[in-house]
Amino acid sequence: MCGIVGYIGKKQACDILLEGLKRLEYRGYDSAGVAVIRDNELIVEKSKGRITTLENKISDKLQSATTGIAHTRWATHGEPNEANAHPHTDHTGKIALVHNGIIENFASLRKYLESQNIEFTSETDSEVLAKLIGHFYKEGNLEQAVRDALSEVQGTYGIAVICSDCPDKIVAARKGSPLIVGIGNDEFIVASDASAIIEHTNQVIYLSDGEMVTVNAEGFRTTTLDDVPVTKDIQQLEWKLEEIELDGFEHFMLKEIFEQPQSLRTCMRGRINTREGAIHLGGIANYTRELARAHRFIFTACGTAWHAGLIGEYLFEELARLPAETEYSSEFRYRNPIIEDGSVICAISQSGETADTLAALREAKEKGALAIGIVNTVGSTIARETDAGIYLHVGPEIGVASTKAFTGQIAVLAMLGAYLGRRRHLSQHNFEQFISALEKIPDQIEEVLNLSNTIRQIAGDLFECEHWLYLGRGYNYPVALEGALKIKEISYVHAEGMPAAEMKHGPIALVNPGMPAVFIATHSSQYDKILGNIEEVKARGGKVVAVITKGDSQLAKKCDYIFEVPQTPEPLEPLLTVVPLQLLAYHVAVLRGCNIDKPRNLAKSVTVE
Ligand code: GLU
Repeated sequence: MCGIVGYIGKKQACDILLEGLKRLEYRGYDSAGVAVIRDNELIVEKSKGRITTLENKISDKLQSATTGIAHTRWATHGEPNEANAHPHTDHTGKIALVHNGIIENFASLRKYLESQNIEFTSETDSEVLAKLIGHFYKEGNLEQAVRDALSEVQGTYGIAVICSDCPDKIVAARKGSPLIVGIGNDEFIVASDASAIIEHTNQVIYLSDGEMVTVNAEGFRTTTLDDVPVTKDIQQLEWKLEEIELDGFEHFMLKEIFEQPQSLRTCMRGRINTREGAIHLGGIANYTRELARAHRFIFTACGTAWHAGLIGEYLFEELARLPAETEYSSEFRYRNPIIEDGSVICAISQSGETADTLAALREAKEKGALAIGIVNTVGSTIARETDAGIYLHVGPEIGVASTKAFTGQIAVLAMLGAYLGRRRHLSQHNFEQFISALEKIPDQIEEVLNLSNTIRQIAGDLFECEHWLYLGRGYNYPVALEGALKIKEISYVHAEGMPAAEMKHGPIALVNPGMPAVFIATHSSQYDKILGNIEEVKARGGKVVAVITKGDSQLAKKCDYIFEVPQTPEPLEPLLTVVPLQLLAYHVAVLRGCNIDKPRNLAKSVTVE
């Protein structure tokens, strides 16, 4: 959710903190703030709104400081205003804290602190933690105060704390929210996300849950919350600076849609080998036997990743004849799920930090499931807590509305399904046909991307519509869900996605003249059925927009608007059919004047439950 950056070194902290916040702004963007220590004085500046608003408020006073922390917020407790923005300070004004997560017992802690005559200036749960650290603080020992305070809190946190008594120190800790320490030349950057670190260094350590780190100009010291020293390996960041820049595109979302041919090539590189007729998946190689003999796969995910999971369910059943189900992580974890011998839990998450998915994963592991992860962010918590896994390798995804991670997730699920299928029922012939079709997908997406201008024109006719239906069957049913989610997320229109046949069990009542109904109506096994569904909408005056197989002139005649996609085997169709829907959502949102990369109320990596 929110973004945290901390800097300690020889440079002007404020510039680095603000630059870092801008890189993290996609994680949360309702308010922001910075705290620095200058001449043993703590100086805090905060503002509602975007980082640029904060930037305009930064006075020279803050400039020469070389230690500081900063935060971009995604509010959970208290509206986004200046008072609720982080950093929060203790009652003495010496200590400042930035926090990502939720302090669940904040109400009782606040009551206690108020009984000690400590006054509060915000409605946030986070301020309670700042005040609690101050309450425990004894001259010079910031670490102990942080430790004491954290032992009282329930909930999740990633925090960074500074104190004007020790101007050359940042104390950070985590439980449930990511924190990384970048190790530069005589400088350290603490951040919730690698994108704030890459331009300074590619040497990092990842904190694990229940760990704390103190950084100062000389080095860093990692411990558990009980002060037991922990040795951390320094790891290398894989992402490059260019990957987190716009590179001539107007928005990250558009850039990431257009990156899909390349991101999928990278995702499949070294994994699909059509010459050998094989798939290599190094990350799960040691578990191939268990996975191929599993009795049941449970995909757990949220949002777009959940839609990828649904496609995975179809893929696994068809290719590997393996029972699979897809669960909303938030529901699964609280349901007392049944995990029998041979169950595999597969967590799907772009960031690898999604709080609900992590909790679902832990629940299933606790009950004995073999755990695998499909994540994009190398070194993320889910990647570290699973027994095995497959990285997407699609590069950093900055746009809040997920696009290239979604197609990466489908490609990984397709590779894994075929890989396990080959070890079960899939013939070598069918396997080879499947992987060579998969290998062609990036080129075919390039063809689909050429539709962007046509889609923009169609969006010009439809962008004022407030209600949309998205309908598909089979593999394209989750694509309908994803198409509807994309347009909701960034255009703020009401859209419902569903299996096309479900429409007549209720939602058809919504159809009135002019309402756009987006069908994914490729030449698949359910083609005739979906034609019937199209007629039902037309009969009621709905406007039919359809994603069709290239050359299907008969269907083209029936529709108001069409997007043609090339032919591929049905299980791989979502990789092509989702692309025009991403572009449609994008162009509609642009025409509606929406903020594409920072849609209202949303944040990228959802690290609160
Ligand atoms: N719960 C805190 C708040 O509402 C932190 C939110 C965040 O992670 O940005 O201020």
